[in-house]
Amino acid sequence: LKADNAQYLWHPMAHPGAMKKSTPDIIAKGEGCWIWDVDGHKMLDGVGGLWACNLGHSNKPVRDAIVAQMDELPFYNVFRGTTHVRAIELSKRLVQMMEPEGVATVMFSTGGSDAVEGALKVARQYWKLKGQADRFKFISLRQGYHGVHFGGMSVNGNTNFRRAYEPLLPGCFHVDTPWAYHNPYTDDPIRLGEICAEMLEREIVFQGPDTVAAFIAEPVQGAGGVIVPPPNYWPLVRQICDKYGVLLIADEVVTGFGRSGEMFGTRLWGVNADMWCLAKGISSGYIPLGATAINRRIAEVFDADTTGAASVSHGYTYSAHPIAAAAALATLDQIEALDIPGHAARVGEHLQTRLRKLVDTCAFVGDVRGVGLMLGIEMVSDKAKRTPMTRTSDIPARVAKAAYKAGLMVRISGPNLILSPPLIITREQVDLMCDVLEGAFAAVQE
Ligand code: PMP
Repeated sequence: LKADNAQYLWHPMAHPGAMKKSTPDIIAKGEGCWIWDVDGHKMLDGVGGLWACNLGHSNKPVRDAIVAQMDELPFYNVFRGTTHVRAIELSKRLVQMMEPEGVATVMFSTGGSDAVEGALKVARQYWKLKGQADRFKFISLRQGYHGVHFGGMSVNGNTNFRRAYEPLLPGCFHVDTPWAYHNPYTDDPIRLGEICAEMLEREIVFQGPDTVAAFIAEPVQGAGGVIVPPPNYWPLVRQICDKYGVLLIADEVVTGFGRSGEMFGTRLWGVNADMWCLAKGISSGYIPLGATAINRRIAEVFDADTTGAASVSHGYTYSAHPIAAAAALATLDQIEALDIPGHAARVGEHLQTRLRKLVDTCAFVGDVRGVGLMLGIEMVSDKAKRTPMTRTSDIPARVAKAAYKAGLMVRISGPNLILSPPLIITREQVDLMCDVLEGAFAAVQE
């Protein structure tokens, strides 16, 4: 199996040559917060299928809903007015859940990148319908991540995800992330929030407000290294967007459905967006699903059109796949019944309190940060200067390997070790995760 993996399977987001030389993890089985690899090695799942498996593996109600849907209607499309029962039920459920957000309607797709693409397209079309076709530009954050399609790549901050595919979408501009640990401006988080919000305002003014369609950002950045903005940042962003009429898009692909310790990340900041990009946790990773939630301000403009120009050309064959929609409905039942966001907030705080001590005890841990059950541990080569460990350092990989050996799967992203376990993780399992990581960092430090 390992030889076939190296020979036949092309691994995206991994160096093909390196993959052929190493023996990567091959996961064979999952149950709750545990996974087993093909060698029978049992591990706590600290990755959660890349922020997706919120209810853990082999969740019985989700499995039963999937099987029942297989028997009732395995597949039909949501396309050109045709739809199916689960899609309608799920759209109603989401709009009701997001009533405090002022969400009016939901457009489905098949994953996070698709949900982002949908939001960017709806933003441009919204301005065209309003007779302001010049408003086509997008502004986003330098450490932001918004998926792999051309629109999402164009608003992505990290150039590593873009460079090989340029030229990208014209009219995309990036401003500084309010990042407490790495910024040249200030150590005062509130002042940092003001400075970075002001940078966004300056960029809007510089571009010409009547040319900017939308600002897109994650309420808490995930892939960029789990970067939590100061509490005043999003409220200021909302004010600035309102001042210039710019649409605000919240990419909640990671933060949505409890991961941030709130049902939606925007609730952390007491701010409403105009659109929310949703995926991953919506169906607990069981079947791929994406959704773009759209507020009344936007929906009304589309509803008012009588010319046909408001038909949105963003229908995938597998948008709102019935099995995915059934999985999502069963997922949302449990997320609400078990108060998964509250649980994530409580055990996440415990996780962070314990691991924060690594900053004092480990010579190469510079920062530990996060909210809910999204946690980043940044490894540095120079603590005083806060110099992130470079790609050539083998230390992050050695920490991951030591954790793996001790029974914990983690993810390394650049200098960061990222933890995103299933949201059903117990306090005891969190303690186990911390024990393993403390041991792994200590072993590598020796
Ligand atoms: N937006 C964010 C914030 C993400 O983290 C991701 C994926 N990690 C995406 C979009 C893309 O989602 P997908 O991989 O499901 O296409």
